[in-house]
Amino acid sequence: YPTVTVIGAGLAGSEAAWQIASQGVPVRLYEMRPVRRTPAHHTDRFAELVCSNSLRANGLTNAVGVLKAEMRLLDSLILSAADQHAVPAGGALAVDREGFSGEVTSRLRNHPLVTVVNEELSALPADGIVVVATGPLTSPDLSKQIQELFGEEYFYFYDAAAPIVEKESIDMEKVFLASRYDKGEAAYLNCPMSEEEFEAFYGALTTAETAEIKDFEKEMYFEGCMPIEVMAKRGKQTVLFGPMKPVGLVDPRTGKLPYAVVQLRQDNAAGTLFNLVGFQTHLKWGEQKRVLSLIPGLENAEFVRYGVMHRNTFINSPKLLHPTYQFRGRESLFFAGQMTGVEGYVESAASGLIAGMNAGRLARGLAPVVPPPQTTLGSMAHYITTADFRHFQPMNANFGLFPPLEKRMKSKRDKNDAIAARALEAIEAFQANEIQNYVR
Ligand code: FAD
Repeated sequence: YPTVTVIGAGLAGSEAAWQIASQGVPVRLYEMRPVRRTPAHHTDRFAELVCSNSLRANGLTNAVGVLKAEMRLLDSLILSAADQHAVPAGGALAVDREGFSGEVTSRLRNHPLVTVVNEELSALPADGIVVVATGPLTSPDLSKQIQELFGEEYFYFYDAAAPIVEKESIDMEKVFLASRYDKGEAAYLNCPMSEEEFEAFYGALTTAETAEIKDFEKEMYFEGCMPIEVMAKRGKQTVLFGPMKPVGLVDPRTGKLPYAVVQLRQDNAAGTLFNLVGFQTHLKWGEQKRVLSLIPGLENAEFVRYGVMHRNTFINSPKLLHPTYQFRGRESLFFAGQMTGVEGYVESAASGLIAGMNAGRLARGLAPVVPPPQTTLGSMAHYITTADFRHFQPMNANFGLFPPLEKRMKSKRDKNDAIAARALEAIEAFQANEIQNYVR
């Protein structure tokens, strides 16, 4: 088989290299550390966890737990190393970070089909099968080249994301569906505020605690993506004439314009998720829950992702990628990890698993495959390649990404249990039917 090039031995690249080599296909794995460092990594080990040592929930009551179960079934290197180096963490899977990344490094370095090259690749190889997994802190030269390939409008250096809530958790009695000035079809869910409600919300927003900004992230405010709390601190009028302006939004229940409005925009094709328009924020997550729950209609909102503002190199996958993680313009070029718009350690590794599986298949002359959307792996691949490309922001695994169940369940817990069971059944069928040709 031809050798596949993998660039970056982080969470995604390590998993991709493992999945390729497991098929009997040789891999050349490029990792620039320790020759060249990133602003967040400290070691020369593969799959270094740059911040928390937690890979989040392990149980099936959480989508990232279901994702782990799917990955274990598909012989994930990252999950195997994590399970082997787990430390006590209640319902979460946390790891001894040195042991974990040491394990990933030695399994890959000792694999007879993996050749490690400690070099920064500053340009994409012009031919051959390539998996790009250089992460949220991709080196500047390579970033520039990818940006040139895709065009500036489809390549981002910052992630300024607004929080996203599950539609089911919105109080529909309080919000109304309308587009500003009734233009086009009614597309937004609008949360109307009275003057008193606005005052209470404004007070909470401007005094809430913000997360720490790393030195290498400070420049981002100059890029024109201002957090809602910073905007609010400039004065009430700044938000009342900005993201919270009520003009053109008559509340059908009162027949009047509310004092202020927070608009929610549909976030996924299935219409199960909504984001808070213009509410990119740098508040701590607990503070986001407290403050945003003051918005009428969002009192009991379930946040599938909180707003973040951080340095994050990522591409506009809905415009650029197939759900197989192949670039639409060159099918031998794969992308994986945080740079595809999945968010988190496990999600990054998961996308590396699918990209690696498919890069290996391509080398073996087989057609690429995608797990069905009923699986967590499939739901993420589907989301990042079908989300609205004009507002694309990275996303964690979550129950809101799955296609709805056929029958309504009594409780949220029952619903999530049924989704998890369906996902595991679907991944088992996928494994049995699609990838039985694996060489192990
Ligand atoms: P990485 O793991 O960063 O791997 C990319 C690899 O590519 C690196 O080893 C890098 O050295 C290498 N590389 C880059 N450019 C080149 C090049 N040109 N040539 C060769 N090699 C190159 N997620 C969580 O779930 N929990 C957290 O606590 C968390 N904290 C984070 C903190 C920070 C500061 C950042 C930036 C992200 C954080 N994330 C966190 C998000 C994300 O899960 C991690 O960044 C994760 O490591 C992404 O995996 P990846 O494989 O895409 O990238």
